[in-house]
Formats: sequence, structure tokens, C-alpha cells
Amino acid sequence: MKAPTITAPLDMRQSALLEFSADIANFKIRRSDRARYLSIQVHPPGVVEVVVPRRMAVREVESFVNAHANWIRETCAGMSRRHLDPGTEPPSKISLSAMDREWSVSYNPNPQARLRVAESNTALEVFGASDDAARRRALLNWLRRKARAFMVPAVGALALQTGLRPRAIQIRAQRSRWGSCSSNKTLSLNLCLLFQEPELVRYLLIHELCHLRQMNHSPRFWTLVEQFSPGGRLLDQRLNDGWTRIPGWLLTEL
Ligand SMILES: [Zn+2]
Repeated sequence: MKAPTITAPLDMRQSALLEFSADIANFKIRRSDRARYLSIQVHPPGVVEVVVPRRMAVREVESFVNAHANWIRETCAGMSRRHLDPGTEPPSKISLSAMDREWSVSYNPNPQARLRVAESNTALEVFGASDDAARRRALLNWLRRKARAFMVPAVGALALQTGLRPRAIQIRAQRSRWGSCSSNKTLSLNLCLLFQEPELVRYLLIHELCHLRQMNHSPRFWTLVEQFSPGGRLLDQRLNDGWTRIPGWLLTEL
């Protein structure tokens, strides 16, 4: 399932000579073999990605971006208004709604220590990370392990209930989607799901499992989803706001 990515309208006729001054912190341009058209996508909390067909000239891209500069700024501003946690400092606690658990986080300043996160029932201690970036990365790695330990059995239980069994499960850290299902039957799940309520996580897992049978979002697909997750379409909409529940320190690492 995709995040509420907003795609700019493709209208080359608007290519005015607007200067695109980069007051946007996170701006990426990506060449794609598969893209047939130029597109601008804005991912929460304001990451701008311009996807460019392989052979397109840079000048054409520039004029397209310039033509959409106002749209890009407004969309980014709208997204950052919706994000309540702009902080990037490493956290003093981590709450994982999916598991209904919370840990306090402390940082051991000993510079000699090996990089690791020690975990007890209610506390984490980060060793060997001397700056904020290293601390965030250590916690991201911990989250990755936590997500795997949580998602694999959860998918296993739902596979039994639904009869839909993936071949493999990947854990990803990304801002563009909650999950996906590839044609070789691999589920990719975003570790940010750990910050969502259990019923939303369950819904998302069912959504992706149903893609094992229907690789599309056809009415048939939704009927299958509703069979295992009643009210699935509403849960789908609620998950769109899930990006606002991801802490700022984590967003900066995605
Ligand atoms: Zn889907």
C-alpha cells in the first residue's frame, strides 16, 4: 500500500521561468528506466522526488520543476503542518503502539564501548554512539530487528487464517509505502508500522497478503480484503494519517 504520495499534475505548458529556490531540505532526482513520463512526488513529511525517464534532457526537467515550484512548496508546507513532531534529536523514549510497549532510552557516553543497544523489558541503553546521527542509526537498527521479530510471527498467524502464505518477508525502512508484495511472493513491510495501532497493522498485513492472489486493487481484491479484515477500506484511509505518528528522529533516517 502506498503512502499518501501526491503526484504533481503533468502539464508542460505551464513551464514558466519560475526560479526553484531550494528551501526544500530533501530534494531528490531519480532516473528511471520504467518511467514513461516526468513526475514530481511529495512524500511525507516533505520529501520531494522527481522521477525522470531515462532519456529526458536536464533542461526539460528543470523547466518542469520550475513550473511546479509553487505547488511543491505548498504541498511540503501542508505536509509539515500535519506532522506534529519535527524534532530530530535521539529520543528519550520509544513507544511501539503495534506491540503496546514502551521503552525509556538512555545513552552511554563511554567512547570505547562497542556500538550496540542493550534492551530490558522497559529500557534501552545505547552504547558506543558518540553523536546524534550515530544514536539514531543504532536505534534504527534496533527497530529493524524488533520489526522482524514482530512481523514474521504476525504474518505467519495471518497466513494460517487466510491460507495466503508469502515466500519471504523483508523489513524496510522507508517513507513512501507501508508495505508491498512482489510477483515472486515476497512481502516488504515498513518498520514504521511498529508505530501504528494493532488493528491497522493487522489490516496492512492482510492487504499485502491478499496481493498474493490479486496483484491489483480491483473490486475483487477489495472483496478478498474485506473477507479477512471487515471495514478494510476505512482502515486503509486511517493508515494514511499513520505518517504523522512516526517520530521525527526516525523520519530523518528514512
Ligand atoms: Zn495494495
